[in-house]
Amino acid sequence: MRARGLPDPSATLPEADFLFTELSGYLKPEDISELQNAYLFSQSAHSGQFRKSGEPYISHPLAVAGILGRLRLDPQTLTAALLHDVMEDTHVSKAEINDRFGKAVADLVDGVSKLDKIEFQTHADAQAENFRKMLLAMARDVRVILIKLADRLHNMRTLEAMRPEKRRRIARETMEIYAPIANRLGLNSIYQELQELSFRYLFPTRYRVLTNATKAARGNRREVVTKILDSIKQRLQAAGLDAEVTGREKQLYSIYKKMAEKHLTFSEVLDIYGFRVIVKDVPSCYIALGALHSLYNPIPGKFKDYIAIPKANGYQSLHNTLWGPYGTPIEVQIRTADMHRIAEAGVASHWLYKSTDADLNDLHMKTHQWLQSLLETLSDSTDSLEFLEHLKVDLFPGEVYVFTPQGKILALPKDATAVDFAYAVHTDIGDCCVAAKINGENAPLRTPLRSGDRVEIVTASHAKPNPAWLNYVVTGKARSHIRRFLKTMQYEESAKLGERLLHQALMSLKIDPQTINEAQWEKLARESGAKSKKDLLADMGLGMHLPAVIARRLASPGESASGANGGNGVITILGTEGMAVQFAKCCRPIPGDSIVGFIKKDQGLVIHIHDCPAISKNRGNSEHWLDVAWGKGIARHFEVSIKTMVANQRGVLARVAAAIAEAGSNIDNVAMEGDGAYTTMNFMLQIRNRYHLAQVMRSLRRIPEVAKITRMKG
Ligand code: MN
Repeated sequence: MRARGLPDPSATLPEADFLFTELSGYLKPEDISELQNAYLFSQSAHSGQFRKSGEPYISHPLAVAGILGRLRLDPQTLTAALLHDVMEDTHVSKAEINDRFGKAVADLVDGVSKLDKIEFQTHADAQAENFRKMLLAMARDVRVILIKLADRLHNMRTLEAMRPEKRRRIARETMEIYAPIANRLGLNSIYQELQELSFRYLFPTRYRVLTNATKAARGNRREVVTKILDSIKQRLQAAGLDAEVTGREKQLYSIYKKMAEKHLTFSEVLDIYGFRVIVKDVPSCYIALGALHSLYNPIPGKFKDYIAIPKANGYQSLHNTLWGPYGTPIEVQIRTADMHRIAEAGVASHWLYKSTDADLNDLHMKTHQWLQSLLETLSDSTDSLEFLEHLKVDLFPGEVYVFTPQGKILALPKDATAVDFAYAVHTDIGDCCVAAKINGENAPLRTPLRSGDRVEIVTASHAKPNPAWLNYVVTGKARSHIRRFLKTMQYEESAKLGERLLHQALMSLKIDPQTINEAQWEKLARESGAKSKKDLLADMGLGMHLPAVIARRLASPGESASGANGGNGVITILGTEGMAVQFAKCCRPIPGDSIVGFIKKDQGLVIHIHDCPAISKNRGNSEHWLDVAWGKGIARHFEVSIKTMVANQRGVLARVAAAIAEAGSNIDNVAMEGDGAYTTMNFMLQIRNRYHLAQVMRSLRRIPEVAKITRMKG
C-alpha cells in the first residue's frame, strides 16, 4: 500500500517522456517502444531505491541514456544504458536481460557491471595510465566505455549530494582516469565537462574565485567578442565562404591550467579570445585561413595543421593564433562540419544511429570503420607512429592488466600466466612460486590471467623452477630466468653426480681418487674436449662420457676406451641429487625396491627397478649400466602408480581416498574407468618407501568394496 499523496512509483517520470520524445527525432518507433520496455523493466527493478539526492533511482539510468541519446547512439547502447545498474544493484541476472533484450544488450550491461567492480587504488601517474588501459582492455566493446563515461558524467553532475570526502575521491578518480579516457576516444564535450566538474570538487576555492573573476570580466569581453565576430564573418563572406562562426567560452579548468603551467596571470589568460569557424569542406578550411590572415596578422610559430596530421584521437582542425584589435591574441579553430562532429563526439560519432545501418550493426564493423577513417587521414609523421601505438594498446588489447595484492597494476602480454606474473613481480618470487590465488581462489600456476584479476603468489623457500613451466610461460623474463636456473642447477648437480660416478669407477680399479693431480685432470679434460675438470665431471653426470672409460684413462694415460668394465662398487642413491638423477616413469622405483642405474646421454643417471620390462632389451650395453643402491633415511616422497578394482557403491571413491589419506599418503591424480559392477581407479600416490606403500595397501584392503590392488610397474 502506498501512502496517500505520494506519487505512483510505477508511473512514468516526466523526464522519461521527454527523453522518448527527443529520441523519436532519430530512432524508429519500434526502437522507441523497445526502449520504453527497458525503461519500465529497469524502473520496477530499481523500485524502492533512491539516490542520495532523494530522487527515485530510475532518474539516474534515464539521465545516462539521455547523455548517450544526445550523442545519437544506437538503440542497443541506449537500452543497455537504461539497464546499466540492474545487475549491480538489483537481483536481475545476465540471463534474464539476455532473454528479454537480447545478447548484445546483455553483454553491454555485463561489461559495465564488471568495470564497476574494479577499484582504482594507487595514485602514481604510471598506475593511472595502466588503469585506463585496463578499463579499455576489459571493455572489449567500445560502447561499454561510452556507457561508463556517461554514467560517470551524470554522477559528477549530481556529486553535490555526496559527503565532501567522497566527492573529492570521485572527482580525483574522474580527473585521473575517466576524463583522459574521454579525451583519448575524442569525446570532447564529455571530456571537458568531466574535467570542469572534477576541478570544481577537487579545488572548490580556486573554482569559486575563477568563476567570479570570469563573470566580472564577461561584460567587457562581450563588446570585444562581438566586434571581432562581425569582422570575421564579413571577411569570410567576402571570400565567398558559407561559414558558421562562434566565439568560444574558455573552460575554467583550461584557464586554471594555463595560469599554472605557463605562469600567466588571470587577465593574461583571459585576454586570449577563442573563435571557431565551421565550413563545408577541406579546401574551404584553407581558404578561410587565408582570408583571416588578411584580416589579422598571424603570430609566428602558432600555426598547427591537424587536418594534414590529425591528433591521436582522430581530432582534425586548423589552429592558429592571430593578433586581434587592441593587440590581443585571437585563437581560431577552422574545421569542416564532419570534423566538428568527430571533435565533439569522437569514437561515438561512429556509433551514430542510422536506420539503414541495421546490417552493419556489429562491433567489429563499426570499430573497423572508425579506425579506417582515422588511418586514411594519417600521413607520415611522428604523430602517426605514436597514434598507432595508442591504438594498438587501447583497442586491440594484446595485453592484460592485473592487480598485485598491494593494488599495483602490472601490464603483461596476452595469455600470460601466474608464473609470468610471479617473475614480473620479482625474480625471487618467480623462482620460488608454488601456487597462485586468483581473485582469492586457488588456481594452477599455468592459469592464463585476465584483465582485472587480482593475483597472489604463494612461495616456498625450498621451491625451484620447474622445467614444465617452459610449456606455458609467455614473457621473455620468465622464460630466460627459468632456462638460466635449470642450466645452472643441472650443471651443478651433474658435476656432483659425475664426481661420484667417477670415484666409484676409480675405486673399482683400486685407485684412490685423491692421488690424481691437477695436471692429470687438465690433460684429461683437454683430451675429452671439456673446458675444465668441472665441465668434464658435469659431462659425465649427463652421460656424455662413461665414468668407467674416463677412470681407465686416468689409470693408464693414453689407453683407448677398451677392456672390460671393472666396476664392482655401488653408487648410493639419496633422492636428493636433483635433476642429475631421474627415477624412470615406466616402473617408478621407491626406496626398498631393488634398482639399477642407466647412464643416458643428456639426461644423466636414470634409475629403474631391476626387473623393469622397459629396460630388458638394453641390458647388453654393459658400460651404460651401474650398480646402484638406496641410501639410508631417505625422507622425500616418490610417485607410485596403483590400480584398484572396486565394487560400484555410492561414496566408494570417498572411502578409498580417506583410507589413502589415513595411511599418510597424498593423491596426485586419479583416473577412473568402467561403469558396470566394478570400477577401476588408477591413483598416482606420494609414497616414501616400500614399507609406506604396504601400509597404504593394507589400509585399502580393509575397505569391503576393494576387490583388487596392483602396483603398476611398466
Ligand atoms: Mn550508474
